[in-house]
Amino acid sequence: MTDSDKPKATIEHKLVKPVRPSDWHLLSTYAVLATLPDRQHPQSVIYRTKVMQSQVRFQMYRWISENPEKAYSGTYELNCPPTGLLVRPKTKFCNNPVVCPWCFVRRRLVPIYEAIKAVPVAARKGSKIVAVRAAYSPTEQLPFFRNDRGPHQWHGSLVTAQTVTPFPAVDDEDLKEKEEDKVPSRLDHVFHVVQVVPESLMLPSIVDGILKRAGHPLSTSAVELPYTSLTNVIRVLSGTYTFPWLQLCAKRNLELFSQIKAGYSEQRLLRINTFKKEKISEHH
Ligand SMILES: [Zn+2]
Repeated sequence: MTDSDKPKATIEHKLVKPVRPSDWHLLSTYAVLATLPDRQHPQSVIYRTKVMQSQVRFQMYRWISENPEKAYSGTYELNCPPTGLLVRPKTKFCNNPVVCPWCFVRRRLVPIYEAIKAVPVAARKGSKIVAVRAAYSPTEQLPFFRNDRGPHQWHGSLVTAQTVTPFPAVDDEDLKEKEEDKVPSRLDHVFHVVQVVPESLMLPSIVDGILKRAGHPLSTSAVELPYTSLTNVIRVLSGTYTFPWLQLCAKRNLELFSQIKAGYSEQRLLRINTFKKEKISEHH
């Protein structure tokens, strides 16, 4: 696509690295930008942000071409400012975490991070951060556990976050040279449970407890780190919320992109049990 094909209202953002890396910067870098293959994209954060932004925009241009009646809202969305950097001019957020990597940081990772950060330092002692990721077969009902009768209660958890993320499954199609040889990705449905639990609780029993009650998951993975620093919170989140963003933005996946955008944008796909003081006595 050449510059003249771009919608006229595309805004060129000026991106500047913050003097001190903020938590936002680290979450954006390690969870989103880290999914870009290193070989093609050197490690400069600004460069990688621009690569990601241009890929998201190309997909939005394609989407607008197919949905010209939605060009106005689509243009807003493609001008959504990247996270983790100082961005000028300021533009409105699109607030759509299912297809926008920046709003994925804003509306998924940051709220979970903030909820875990809200645990007072004294209560973090003896706790660990655990994230369980399960791919599941979608049914009418979302796999969320009830806020008042779920892993938050079984595990004596100080904070519990649950998310659902519809996303293209990782594949190698983009390694093919010819665009016409590439086939679209399969749609994965991913369910996450992130918790702050007593260190003595063993990971397999946490995972089993969730799986046993969650129905029929296809595959699971889990990560855990002691809650000794906020860096560990960022490590756990960026280790478990890895999605192939370039694949979502690939031309071959325009239909999948449209499907996710249309089907999931309005759904509430994040639930958090926040920290409550009275939990501390139970926990220790
Ligand atoms: Zn956005």
